[in-house]
Order: sequence, then C-alpha cells, then structure tokens
Amino acid sequence: MLVENDFEVKKLTSFKIGGVVRRVIFPESVDEFIASLESCPEAFVFGNMSNVLVSSDGFDGTLILTTKMKNYNIKENLVKAECGIKGPKLSQIVAEKGLSGLEFMIAFPGSIGGEVFMNAGAHGQSVQDVFVEGDFFDKTARQVVTLTKKDMNFSYRTSVCQKQELIVLNATFELEEKDVDLIKVKMQENLQFRHSHQPSLALPNCGSVFRNPEGNSAGRLLESVGVKSFKIGGAKVWEGHANFIINENKATSTDVLELMLKMQSEVREKYNIELMPEVRYLGNNSRKEEDICKILYQSLKKMQK
Ligand SMILES: Cc1cc2nc3c(=O)[nH]c(=O)nc-3n(C[C@H](O)[C@H](O)[C@H](O)COP(=O)(O)OP(=O)(O)OC[C@H]3O[C@@H](n4cnc5c(N)ncnc54)[C@H](O)[C@@H]3O)c2cc1C
Repeated sequence: MLVENDFEVKKLTSFKIGGVVRRVIFPESVDEFIASLESCPEAFVFGNMSNVLVSSDGFDGTLILTTKMKNYNIKENLVKAECGIKGPKLSQIVAEKGLSGLEFMIAFPGSIGGEVFMNAGAHGQSVQDVFVEGDFFDKTARQVVTLTKKDMNFSYRTSVCQKQELIVLNATFELEEKDVDLIKVKMQENLQFRHSHQPSLALPNCGSVFRNPEGNSAGRLLESVGVKSFKIGGAKVWEGHANFIINENKATSTDVLELMLKMQSEVREKYNIELMPEVRYLGNNSRKEEDICKILYQSLKKMQK
C-alpha cells in the first residue's frame, strides 16, 4: 500500500491549497482500506478532495485517500462501485451501458464516497434518488455494516455518515434503462450549464462555498449583498457566481476563510440569515484559522447535533 510522508497535499485538492500532511495512505482495495482504518482510527478519510479546504499550514496527522479504489461491477440495472471511483468516470461508464440516473455526476469532480457522504446532487438529481445500499466501516463499532437507503437519512447535502462515524466502502445504485443517446444529451446539457454558470477547475475552487438555506439560494443572497469580486489576498469571489471562491493567485487557506467570514457576515447583517459552509475544513496548526472556523462553522455544528 502506498504511504507518503510529509506530503504536499495541494497537489490533490481542487482548490490547489493545502500545506504538508504528515502521512497520507492510499489503499488500493477495500481490504487495505479497512486495514488502514483499523490500524489508524484517528485518520481522516477523503476522496477526490473537491469539497475541502486544507490549511496552508498543513495537517500534523494521517489522511487516508481513497482515489486508488476504483473497481465497480454492473449487473443488469444495478451498479456497485468502490468509494474511490470518480463520479464523472462512473457516469460515463453507465451511460455507455444505457443506464440513466448518474447524469448529474458528470458535472463535478467528487468521488463516490464523498458524494454519498455529502448526498451530492445537481441538475435535479442527487445520490439519494439512486442509492440502494452500501457497505460502510463503522468506526465506533469497528466493523463493516451494510446500510440501505432508509438507514441513510439523506436530506439536502447530508447523510447519516455526517452524524455517525461511518466510512463509505462502496455503494450500489439502481439505474433506469434508457437510450444511450438520450443519456448523453442530458450529460452534455449538464456540462454546458456548468461551463456557462460556474468556474472551471482552471480557476481552482471547491464548488459552492455555502449551502443553500432552506427555501433560499446562497448564491442569490450573496449576489444581492454585493460580494462578487470581493478579494482577500489571492482568494476572490468569482465574478460569474457569488457562491464560488477561486484561488486566483496563490491563495492561502487563511485568505479563503477570511473571505468566507466576510461573505457570511454581509448576509447576516442584511438578512439575519446564517449561511452555513458546504466546504469542509482540515487543519490544526493555526490559531487564527481556528478562531475564524469557530464563527464560520458554528451554525453547522448546531445543525449536526
Ligand atoms: C467545480 C466544482 C463543482 C462542484 N459542484 C457540485 C455540485 O453541483 N453538487 C454537489 O453536491 N457538489 C459539488 N461540488 C462539491 C464536491 O465535488 C462534492 O461535495 C463531492 O461529493 C465531494 O467528493 P470528494 O470525493 O471530492 O470529497 P472530499 O472533498 O474528499 O471529502 C468531502 C467530505 O466527504 C468525506 N468523505 C470522502 N470520502 C469518504 C468516504 N469514503 N467515506 C466517508 N466519508 C468520506 C470527507 O471526510 C469529507 O468530510 C463541486 C466541487 C467543485 C470543485
């Protein structure tokens, strides 16, 4: 199993931000993954690192990255995929087989594990629409459990994995047989929408920074308080969409957190609405960042209790 010490993680994050991580483990199979979770229970698990801001001061601990676990199998209209395979890849594979339901995954760079954890969604589809069951490592009980859709408590960008220590090993999705060309048209439409409404990864970013508050749109609220083009250090709110921060010029994690804090406070002041970050944060070295996170993530913690 590949293990890297003192690994510069910004090579792998979609934000292209993140300092040195003491140890990174890359399991290549579910068995290796379970073995690393058992031998290093304090490790944090990530997939494609497209929804995380890692501190530029690094992280003095262990990460397990799932990106080398890419096996899948398809039986009739069921696809079972290991947690590390990328959503865009899996959506293309099933499309070629005439299976519909994962067209939304073409449009953003998550892994299956990260997408189940987040109940990722876009373009009117989400993980919860197609998820049937999955195998999980329960870190508390230290055993593998199988959970079905009803166990998952899926809701907007949330699953049971965020409340209990459940690590996604694999997931099975039930898809619908459809004409290959129709599926591809839908995927193309999704990609075109992205190109016209969101920054590409040529402008490193982490997707939506804040969750939509119930019945409202974080992007619209942020736009109405005029945050577009706000800039701190190398981090900037994208001109095309107020809920995206781009790493324009060697941004640090502190630049991004300060910008998030400013965005959050502008909306709080005008609307008395507390925006909750969608992007996760990892770091343990900077007092300043910890202080900002206490304010930024306060409402998220309240929600998760
Ligand atoms: C350009 C861009 C566009 C995006 N658009 C969308 C969008 O339209 N819709 C959307 O929902 N998201 C979007 N995202 C955000 C992101 O891609 C999703 O949240 C995705 O689900 C994250 O997957 P990941 O593998 O990158 O997760 P990571 O960033 O690696 O991790 C995110 C969280 O998932 C947890 N996690 C990862 N793997 C596992 C596992 N195997 N078991 C348990 N927990 C795990 C991590 O601990 C972490 O808390 C976008 C991101 C970018 C960069």
